[in-house]
Amino acid sequence: MSTIAGAVPRQRRRIRVIGTVQGVGFRPFVYRAAVALGLAGEVSNDASGVLIEAEGQAAALDELARLLVEASPPLARVAQVTSEPLAPQGDDGFCIVASRGEGPAVVPVSVDVAPCDACLAEMTDRHDRRHRYPFINCTDCGPRYTITRRVPYDRRFTTMAGFDMCPACRTEYDDPGDRRFHAQPNACPDCGPRLALHAPDRVLLATGDDALIGALDGLRAGAVVAIKGVGGFHLAVDAADAGAVATLRRRKARDDKPFALLVADLAGARKLVQLDPAAAAALTDARRPIVLAARRAHAGVAPGVAPGLPELGVMLPPTPLHHLLAADHGGPLVLTSGNLTDEPIAYEDPDAFARLARLVDAVLTHDRPIHIRCDDSVLRADVAGGLQPVRRSRGEAPEPIELPVPARRPVLALGAELKSTIAVARERTAVISHHLGDLEHPATYRAFLQAIDHLLHLQQVAPEVVVHDLHPEYLSTKFANELDLPLVGVQHHHAHVASCLAEHGRTDEVVGVAFDGLGWGDDRTLWGGELLVCDLRGYERVGHLAPIPLPGGANAIREPWRTAVAWAVTALGAEAVEPAVSHLDDRWAAMRDLVLSGRPLPTTSAGRLFDAVAALLGIRSRVTYEGQAAIELEALARAVSPAAAPRYDVDLQSGNTLVLDPAPLLRAVVADRDAGVDPAVVAAGFHLGLAAGTAAAVIRIASDRSLATVALSGGVFQNAVLTEQLCGRLKDAGLEVLVHRRVPPNDGGISLGQAAVGACLDD
Ligand code: ZN
Ligand code: ZN
Ligand code: FE
Repeated sequence: MSTIAGAVPRQRRRIRVIGTVQGVGFRPFVYRAAVALGLAGEVSNDASGVLIEAEGQAAALDELARLLVEASPPLARVAQVTSEPLAPQGDDGFCIVASRGEGPAVVPVSVDVAPCDACLAEMTDRHDRRHRYPFINCTDCGPRYTITRRVPYDRRFTTMAGFDMCPACRTEYDDPGDRRFHAQPNACPDCGPRLALHAPDRVLLATGDDALIGALDGLRAGAVVAIKGVGGFHLAVDAADAGAVATLRRRKARDDKPFALLVADLAGARKLVQLDPAAAAALTDARRPIVLAARRAHAGVAPGVAPGLPELGVMLPPTPLHHLLAADHGGPLVLTSGNLTDEPIAYEDPDAFARLARLVDAVLTHDRPIHIRCDDSVLRADVAGGLQPVRRSRGEAPEPIELPVPARRPVLALGAELKSTIAVARERTAVISHHLGDLEHPATYRAFLQAIDHLLHLQQVAPEVVVHDLHPEYLSTKFANELDLPLVGVQHHHAHVASCLAEHGRTDEVVGVAFDGLGWGDDRTLWGGELLVCDLRGYERVGHLAPIPLPGGANAIREPWRTAVAWAVTALGAEAVEPAVSHLDDRWAAMRDLVLSGRPLPTTSAGRLFDAVAALLGIRSRVTYEGQAAIELEALARAVSPAAAPRYDVDLQSGNTLVLDPAPLLRAVVADRDAGVDPAVVAAGFHLGLAAGTAAAVIRIASDRSLATVALSGGVFQNAVLTEQLCGRLKDAGLEVLVHRRVPPNDGGISLGQAAVGACLDD
């Protein structure tokens, strides 16, 4: 023993931290902890995360390792901490070293984060130099993903590169003890971004706080104001002003689709919607999603905000600018995406002025560019006992999701077509892009190409496997076919169920229920009501909804009356079609004949079945936004207690595959409608009948195959009534039920499912 008696031996360790640990204040956190523990050494960022060399007493080193996991900064997500011994060097003091090397950086960029309490306190302090400064941020908060042009995450590679820090900001940025140490977007009124208020013709009206006050004056007077947020432009009006809401609808060419609302705080949200603890937590989370929750009877908003719907979408301020707007305005503001219906949102100033000028009375913008367009994320409260993602975007992208199996080769998953997202998988992590939208729109297709480049760059990988949908007409499929890379086609509904398995970390075989609009089947027909026995590797189609001819393809989606005719022919017989549907549309007879001709492509779509019932009940024959008929049908059903709903039957036909035939259910729906039963009661009976029939089929399959778990996926499971009814029945039968909690059940989740299948097929 060379140690002098009484002295404690020094140890030196190299500690590596992997996860979301850059751009989140991790190094200053390590610095402060190490100094407090009397450790010497250094901390740096490198290609794979944060690297620490620390020297001191073993107990202090152990304590540092514990703090790294248990007390890391709010935005950090520590995936792994590893430690190896080194020879002590006897150095003094602890320091933060500039980023090391270039190397392959696989450091996740943080999500965009709402202002922290410390920043809000400064912003509302009249004596603070950032009083009312709408771009205040620190290492714990602020924009990240949307301003990052490339990695490593460093100011010069963000859209803050054009702003030179003033001496006061520079001092904060350089001081390891300051809460703005290396806060890349650090800024103040002297050196940072500035607001500007413009007339629609670009004439400058005001800058700085005057611009904000001008915008608020406009909103109070009923104006439509475009506001540049963190991921793009929103359009805002006073939500209590029925005239302003109507003007916004007319200009945006948006007939019925509900608008989201911005409120200043939780108390403001509670005046509009009922929030359970989970919903309140989601609403106040720093990611700041829109939360859809049950509206209060006397919510103080114009009826035109969400016509006829029992829910409102509410958001707390995602940026300091929105805090100032919401707090100064007082009441709720409509905050809807800055676009014409179906177009992607504007995020660059020239484009915003070009496209939004005729929709708005003023534009509140600023000079910090947005690099990545990012829509608001949306969660629906209280779906089968929890929150379910409807759209996973700002505040969620590019946060990685852990895969249940490692991708041995980097995988690029191209998603579907509508609600497009893409994903890049590398080893255990899959990174899903922000919401892209409908690829058929040229600007969305450009965003799709940009997202592929950007995500591959952020992950610093070149794809070695490309996964795509089987639909030959999807632009994502066509793009895949142009690549000179190994391709894997994954069936749409298998990808749906795989996405649910992946987010739950599961690799075992389950019964998968995939109910959605339409997806390409492996028999070249359109599927959408599928019962699969599957794991990540493959699937067997063991059952499905009874097929009907789908007259009019894409038109059928916009015009549910067409599917109503098809279901009427199938369930009621040709003679009974006229009394059932002739009032829905003048073209009913031609449609009946088309269906009888057998020419249209058959579909097993569950989404179309909801459309048909909504049309038959006179709820909606034509939609103005996707899913409207089903959403309104669910809204009616929700108002009826299940005990008060009639029992309608679904036929189960055994054979090679189990066929779930809703014909008896549809006959009962039409009979009750004709008998004058309240449409809400019939709607509830339809939901219950479909849930009961599906549960019976699933229970039979699970029993035949000795399976204990069921995964529910596909856009139809955004329907809380169906999901709850089905979950309840399956759980009562002793089955474990997996529902979506991290990615949407709709096609926004497809890329994750594809990535998981791609990772699995490769080992
Ligand atoms: Zn902050
Ligand atoms: Zn400054
Ligand atoms: Fe789908």
